[in-house]
Formats: sequence, C-alpha cells, structure tokens
Amino acid sequence: AHLDRIEAVDEAVHAFLHVDGERALASAAEVDRRRADGEPLGPLAGVPLALKDVLTYAGAPTTCGSKILEGWRPPYNATVTQRLLDAGIVILGKTNLDEFAMGSSTENSAYGPTHNPWDLDRIPGGSGGGSAAALAAFEAPLAIGTDTGGSIRQPAAVTGTVGVKPTYGGTSRYGLVALASSLDQPGPCARSVLDTALLHAVIAGHDPRDSTSIDAPVPDVVAAARSGDVAGLRVGVVRELGGEGYAPGVEQRFRESVDLLAAAGAEIVEVSCPHFRYALPAYYLILPSEASSNLAKFDAMRFGLRVGDDGVASAEQVMAATREAGFGAEVKRRIILGTYALSSGYYDAYYGQAQKVRTLVIRDFENAFAAADVLVSPTTPTTAFRLGERVDDPLAMYANDLCTIPSNLAGNASASFPVGLSPDDGLPVGLQVIAPPLADDRLYRVGAALE
Ligand code: GLN
Repeated sequence: AHLDRIEAVDEAVHAFLHVDGERALASAAEVDRRRADGEPLGPLAGVPLALKDVLTYAGAPTTCGSKILEGWRPPYNATVTQRLLDAGIVILGKTNLDEFAMGSSTENSAYGPTHNPWDLDRIPGGSGGGSAAALAAFEAPLAIGTDTGGSIRQPAAVTGTVGVKPTYGGTSRYGLVALASSLDQPGPCARSVLDTALLHAVIAGHDPRDSTSIDAPVPDVVAAARSGDVAGLRVGVVRELGGEGYAPGVEQRFRESVDLLAAAGAEIVEVSCPHFRYALPAYYLILPSEASSNLAKFDAMRFGLRVGDDGVASAEQVMAATREAGFGAEVKRRIILGTYALSSGYYDAYYGQAQKVRTLVIRDFENAFAAADVLVSPTTPTTAFRLGERVDDPLAMYANDLCTIPSNLAGNASASFPVGLSPDDGLPVGLQVIAPPLADDRLYRVGAALE
C-alpha cells in the first residue's frame, strides 16, 4: 500500500531519491518467514520506513543529496540501519535532503527540492525534508532523520509530524556520513508520539563502533509515551526563544500548549538562557570547521564521482575538477568558512571563541535545568515558507535554526511535536521540548500529554 502511495504522490512531493519496491517486498516476506519460524519480533516488525539518504544501507545508493556521491553504493549497513533490519522494519527507500545535510529547506539537494505536502509551493524544512514529507504525505509511517542543528525537529515542525533528536551519544553515528561529528545525531520520526517512541527504542543504545556512543541504559521512552503524565513536571519557558521575529500564529499555538500542560498539572516556570543569542554564530563556525575536515575525504579517489581524469591530469587537478563539479554552492561556502576559521592565526579568534560560547550555552542549560525538568519553546520562528523565498539569503536561511541549535551544542535530548495549525496561514506549528542528557523519556511524556 505504501509503495502504491509513493507511486501516486511522489512525483509531486519528491520525498524519495531512491525507492526499491522489490527489495522492500522481499524484506516483508522475510519478516513473515522469521515470524513463522517463531522468532520473537518487536511491535514494529513488518512496518515500512523511509531512510534519510545520509545513512548507509548496504547495496543501496547513498548520495547525501550530492552529485559527488552519485553512483556510490556502500558495502555495509549503518548501525541504525542494522537495528531496523533486525527488528523486522521494512526499508522502502532513501529520502531527499539538503546536500550533506546543510540547509533548512531541502532546496540545497543536488537532485531538486522536496515539496511540503500541506502546500506544494512551500518548503518541507531541512535538511531532512524528504523524511518529514514522506510521513506527512502518508508515503511511510516511520522515518529516520539526522539532526546536527535542527534537521529532524525543524522539518517535523513545518510538516505537522513528530521528530526526536536523542541525547548526543544515544544513537550510533556509525554509517552516518558525517557533517559535524560533535553535533550529528540520528533520530526517530513518525506521525504519532507512540510510533516515534517505539522506533526510538529500536535504534537507541550503546554501539562500540561509535567512540562517542554512551554506554548507559536507554530511558524507557515507550512507557513515557504511553503515560503522558505531566503532573508535577516543572516546565521551563525559555524567555529568549520568543518575541520579536516570531510569527503571531506560532506564538499563539505555543502559549496554548503551555496552558494545556498547566491544565494537565505541570508547573510552569520562566527560565532565562542569556547566551542563546550567541549560539547561532558559534554553531556556524563550529559546524563549517568540522565539516571542512570531514568532507576532505571526497577527493575523487575513494568514493563516487571522478572528473577530468584524462590520464594526463595530475591527482590535484582531478581532485579540484571533481570538487568543482561535485559540490554545490552551500557546501563550498561552508568548506571555505571552515578552512578559514581553522587556519593558524585565526583559530583563537574564531574556532576557539566559538568553543567558549559552546561552554556558556551548556552552563545556561545547567542553570535552567536546576529550575525546570524540561524546557519548551516554539520549534521554529515561522511556519513553512515558500520555495525559493530564502535561497539567495544564507543568513535568513540560518535564522530558522535559532531555537534548535542550542540543544546540539549542548548534546541535550530535544523534540518537536505538532501543536495544531497557525491561525495566520493554516500551516502546522511545532512545539520544541528539551530535556537534559539521558532524560529522553521526558520528551515523550510531554508530547503524549499534548497529543
Ligand atoms: N539548518 C542547519 C544547517 O544548515 C541544520 C543542519 C542539520 O541539522 N543537518 O546546518
């Protein structure tokens, strides 16, 4: 049924870069066999899923939305992918994203943008717009995203779906093509809070193949999603994430959600995080620095595209020609920014400063979590904007990440839950909930209370 749905709507939505119906049907038949053999399978066995095209699935193309990886088929599964397969989840295909997950609208994909199913003239968020749009268009009931600065939560908010960025180290990065290694985190996406929690439980947990994976028990997210009990929970409204620049309809739905939590017995407090205003500039130094290093491996020798190899050109010339042809404008912009920020003489002024700001943001969170069990804010300042509206203005594009970036800098657990449509334009609004590291279950408690 989901393959039929993809066939019917994906030409207009363009959520997928690659669909392998035959392989999906074979996996589904395999699940039936495993069940018939008496293998105990979890609650998601046989359920289809859309996988963001930045995680490897052995034999399937993995492009990261970039021309430079066109034609590359990895020989191994990411840990997240392997856990999905072990649980009997059926992978339908790979979803569209901004090139190397750099963006907030999926317009930076080298394979064309994804459209928001609520209004095809609008963006589905980014970088994981394909995964979120696949859910909103009912092409898949489950999806996997990755969140480095908001790429799970921001698309969830603008498509009216649920997206969770687990605690950093809570899900494995093995087999995830790295954007910024200290920020990247794969996470679960779905249309309901419980579905998201069930998927979270499948993919989370320690992985010795990822050196930053946390060796601690996964909090019981499924029980939390079933309970939705927020009585006595201290909910902190972040003063700095609201006001000027936030759409009235977004603020209205946000305030209503806070009122609903209060009515359900939560204690509402206001908290202040004064250094959050520096989080965005710090992120846009740390991310390009890490990305410029991670992307150096695309050298025309090891993976994918090779341009200008006429037998006479030097390795350096082939590398330059391949990168010129293979990387898009945003990727080039960030490689140049990152290389500059890391260069000797500028390191202390830029990268070093940004790391200090990162510590101040972490301290803001520590102070806020002394007063509150979870923090809340709108996920994004506005609802989905129109395709093309911000492509020529990188700074306006970066401003989408104002609310989501602090959690990546600190490594907290963070989620976006749908809280209705904006009275301004009838488009979905998301509520962001942030919990301290390893308290991912609290996110689901709040999400379930509002569902
Ligand atoms: N919009 C952010 C960026 O462009 C988010 C990226 C992400 O989370 N992958 O960096």
